[in-house]
Amino acid sequence: MSAPNKSYDPVEVEALKPEEIERMRDEALAAFAAAGDLDALAHAKTAHTGGTSPLALANREIGALPPQAKAAAGKLVGQARGIVSKALAARQTELEAERDARVLVEEAVDVTLPYDRVPAGARHPLTTLMERVSDVFVSMGYEVAEGPEVEAEWFNFDALNFVPDHPARQMQDTFFVQGPEGTTGDESGVVLRTHTSPVQARTLIDREPPVYVVCPGRVYRTDELDATHTPVFHQIELLAVDEGLTMADLKGTLDHMVQALFGPDMKTRLRPNFFPFTEPSAEMDMLCYVCRGESVGNPDRPCRTCGSEGWIELGGCGMVNPKVLVACGVDPEKYSGFAFGFGIERMLMFRHNVDDMRDMVEGDVRFTRPFGMEI
Ligand SMILES: [Zn+2]
Repeated sequence: MSAPNKSYDPVEVEALKPEEIERMRDEALAAFAAAGDLDALAHAKTAHTGGTSPLALANREIGALPPQAKAAAGKLVGQARGIVSKALAARQTELEAERDARVLVEEAVDVTLPYDRVPAGARHPLTTLMERVSDVFVSMGYEVAEGPEVEAEWFNFDALNFVPDHPARQMQDTFFVQGPEGTTGDESGVVLRTHTSPVQARTLIDREPPVYVVCPGRVYRTDELDATHTPVFHQIELLAVDEGLTMADLKGTLDHMVQALFGPDMKTRLRPNFFPFTEPSAEMDMLCYVCRGESVGNPDRPCRTCGSEGWIELGGCGMVNPKVLVACGVDPEKYSGFAFGFGIERMLMFRHNVDDMRDMVEGDVRFTRPFGMEI
């Protein structure tokens, strides 16, 4: 009430005194201002505007006033409630805006982040190198041929001119899956193939010359795993059988291969050697691709890759032994052929400066990843 009504004996209602109404209003405004979030504001709203809030209770007291006092008290309480209600709405809007702004920041999606947290893998460099070498021959018209890794002893040795007591058969320490003594008569045993050469024999038996195949694959020998040996490794072998093939064709093919893999000025050399399945046989060296032979006799420019010898030994080759042709049903009077094979691990080691063969088999992605996703 703005002023006491002298004409009546006003009922003194404590809750309706102007200073009380002011206090209730100010408490409500302070509570709304202090509410730090929408939950706190909801509590303050119940406390200061709900049915049992001081202002609501004061409003109820108006009914007990004499009629002449009702209007003034009603106006006073109504104004206070109006201010409180406006302040509540304003604070509500303010806190909602704050919340929306916070959600925008906290729940923001950075579209530039990688969408896939599974790291991309890389193909193993042995696989990619083997495919790269195969591609060189495929581009010359060769076909890729494959054979079983568990191989008949006959294909692994006998067909390739390793006679039973041939010293070469003992030279290669072989995993026997089933020894010849376990079979009746003189049947062939079963081995994990010690080289990819049995694929040559299988190919010659399967088809008529001319035959041009490249045979990449996994081979097994009973070596311990260490820096320079592994019991499982990869070879790639090529075989060409046609009319009139000579060592010159072999040499030209090898030159083309090293030029395709290491650069146009590469060359190869052949040194005499012995293999049961080729005659004549040769060891094939390629020019050192790092020093190009310039380290030879040049102490100022030593070469780690070739040991300053100028050449790197790559693999064995030769003209297919006529006995192998006969064993595979090919007429050696009409056809001749050449073959060449080498280890992929060894080429990976000197081509990419890999020092330890164990790195290639341990499956550590830190080794594989730098070779990238070459496909
Ligand atoms: Zn060198």
